[in-house]
Amino acid sequence: MKKTIIFIIIILFLCFLIPIIFTRKFETLQIFSEDKEIEELQIDKSYNYDDYTTIKLLHTNDNTIEEVNLDEYLCNVVSAEIPASYNIEALKAQAVVARTYTIYTIVKNNVKHGQANICDSPSCCQAWISKENRLAKWDEDVRTQYWNKIVEAVNSTIGEVVTYEGEIINALYHANSGGKTEIASGVWGGGDYPYLQSVETARRRGI
Ligand SMILES: [Zn+2]
Repeated sequence: MKKTIIFIIIILFLCFLIPIIFTRKFETLQIFSEDKEIEELQIDKSYNYDDYTTIKLLHTNDNTIEEVNLDEYLCNVVSAEIPASYNIEALKAQAVVARTYTIYTIVKNNVKHGQANICDSPSCCQAWISKENRLAKWDEDVRTQYWNKIVEAVNSTIGEVVTYEGEIINALYHANSGGKTEIASGVWGGGDYPYLQSVETARRRGI
């Protein structure tokens, strides 16, 4: 099952805000829950790569673990999770959300895959595709352009993660909300996150 919890609001806000955040350490995002209370999310631009410079990635097809550089891994994730033909700002938003999701997964859920931090399955953690396989799926005339665009999206957002009250968030994301997101407990039961509330979302083709 593709990750289904709804979080397009983050992507949309990031799309709007990323162009203006480069002179600030933090950027505040505002989300509106159904009772109209305002909650605050921030883009923290100071993630300390000393914590996780590399991660241990579980390849589910052969059950092997590969240690990879965090942001190099994100290039493989972004290229698997979103079409490279999309606007560069959408790719940057995906890079920030994927970096946030990755670090949260490592910090909060580090025993799920034994010695590995995260796996390459979109039905479990998040999608990943090797550069070789990714390039092979693109037409030859756009391969270099598309890969460079992915790398730009990751490199131009280095160190950026989304936080709530100073803590990195569980940045679950999806491709299409169908117009309205679902509260976390409505999908999985259990507790809710203050920043994962049901909201109306703009219908945007392909996002
Ligand atoms: Zn997994």
